[in-house]
Amino acid sequence: MPDKPVRVRIAPSPTGYFHVGSARTALFNWLFARHHGGKFIVRIEDTDRSRYHPEAVPDLIASLRWLGLDWDEGPEVGGDYGPYYQSQRLALYQHYAAQLVEQGHAYRCYCSPERLEALREEQRKRKENPGYDRHCRYLTAAQRAEYEAQGITPVIRLKVPLEGQTTFHDLLYGTITVDHQMLDDLVLLKSDGYPTYHLANVVDDHLMEISHIMRGDEWLPSVPKHVLLYQAFGWEIPVYAHLPLILAPTGQGKLSKRHGGVEIREFRRQGYLPEAMINYLARVGWSYDDKTEIFSREELIRYFDLSGISSSPARFSYERLEWMNGYYIRQLHPDDLAARLVPFLQEAGYPVTAAELVPIVPLIQERLKTLAEVVQWTDFFFKSVLEYEASLLIGKNMTATESLVALRRVRETLALLTPFTAATIEPPLRALADQLGIKAAQLFGIIRVAVTGKEVAPPLFEVMAILGLERVLARLDQAIEMLDRLIH
Ligand code: GLU
Ligand code: ZN
Repeated sequence: MPDKPVRVRIAPSPTGYFHVGSARTALFNWLFARHHGGKFIVRIEDTDRSRYHPEAVPDLIASLRWLGLDWDEGPEVGGDYGPYYQSQRLALYQHYAAQLVEQGHAYRCYCSPERLEALREEQRKRKENPGYDRHCRYLTAAQRAEYEAQGITPVIRLKVPLEGQTTFHDLLYGTITVDHQMLDDLVLLKSDGYPTYHLANVVDDHLMEISHIMRGDEWLPSVPKHVLLYQAFGWEIPVYAHLPLILAPTGQGKLSKRHGGVEIREFRRQGYLPEAMINYLARVGWSYDDKTEIFSREELIRYFDLSGISSSPARFSYERLEWMNGYYIRQLHPDDLAARLVPFLQEAGYPVTAAELVPIVPLIQERLKTLAEVVQWTDFFFKSVLEYEASLLIGKNMTATESLVALRRVRETLALLTPFTAATIEPPLRALADQLGIKAAQLFGIIRVAVTGKEVAPPLFEVMAILGLERVLARLDQAIEMLDRLIH
């Protein structure tokens, strides 16, 4: 048990739609907070105005809510450490940057973009690493006054020690040491008064009393700079745990759009359940005992621990996720499933209600791997006219004429049937197949196409019972007419 109150955060930059990798980071932080009875905080790092995407925050909020990852402080919920949008905290960053200058840990740099560009050009030519040459670190008071008199607004840079090393510890990566010679005098505050990521991130993690920083390992190279900042301020360094990358299903390179959906809203639209997403994402890079795959939310909270996080990258498997989604779909109460399926059918243009779907659900519940698949499995229930190729009505190893005869006999047989239930429909049709001298499967294949317009559909007799005698007869009539026209 950590000795400080657990306060963890995600700190997304609103540059695009919420990514599945960020969702995993959010989940791990959320689980850690819930496991330890701590706080999970959402902070919006929106200081890079050039990359700002107006839909990013609404999409983040909708995605977190959909996943059920509730936050204790942040957008819409507030909290004692706000504001939780960095763009509303500019004065704080300016204050802390000025403090570092006063204390000799940072300095004002007046270099023009042109000078910096010329410098980079020279470094390129000499095949040196690009970096700031620390020109302004050594300005005399007179030179500084001169620049100020010219009305130049400076940036503020960190005075990275010229010698020595910084060492820090990461729970997953171990102890890392970086030579200061490898580090630039990074900009902390830009001339427009906006902080850089580094300054704002460190100031906020400190002021918000973040105890553990769990985030993607692409941020690992920033840590030495952050550690220098914490030290310059005299602040306590949080515990770091940088999460290994999520790899593509092939194991080659990182997961990207090329491999499939990567935005949470895409998974949602494709009909993944939040329960399945949570369970699956928890298992991308975390394990309990190397064999348990299925965890309820409560079990994840109970078992989640940093020691279960793998220090090597984990592959993302769409297949595994789909399997898990099918599993969670099968666990749902049919009424719940019906309610979740409604929006997918409505989206496809079928204005159905959950009540209409309830009798259909048992026919498809075992078969669905995503909610969106409901459309292909059930659309024929909601169409007034089916569209399909007449040639599909020709039975296997049968002629069109034989199939037409069979269809007419089916119609005659069913027209007299009362009651019209799955149990009463089957026996007379089997008897009819015998009389026609064909296999039941041949006959049922023809009927299936006639009543569903498809060769693959949910169980036939149940489907027919739900459609009802009237609609079944109408569809048989349509099929008879189509086949008749095909022949003549
Ligand atoms: N704003 C950074 C991001 O978009 C935050 C990284 C961090 O968690 O420190 O991921
Ligand atoms: Zn300078």
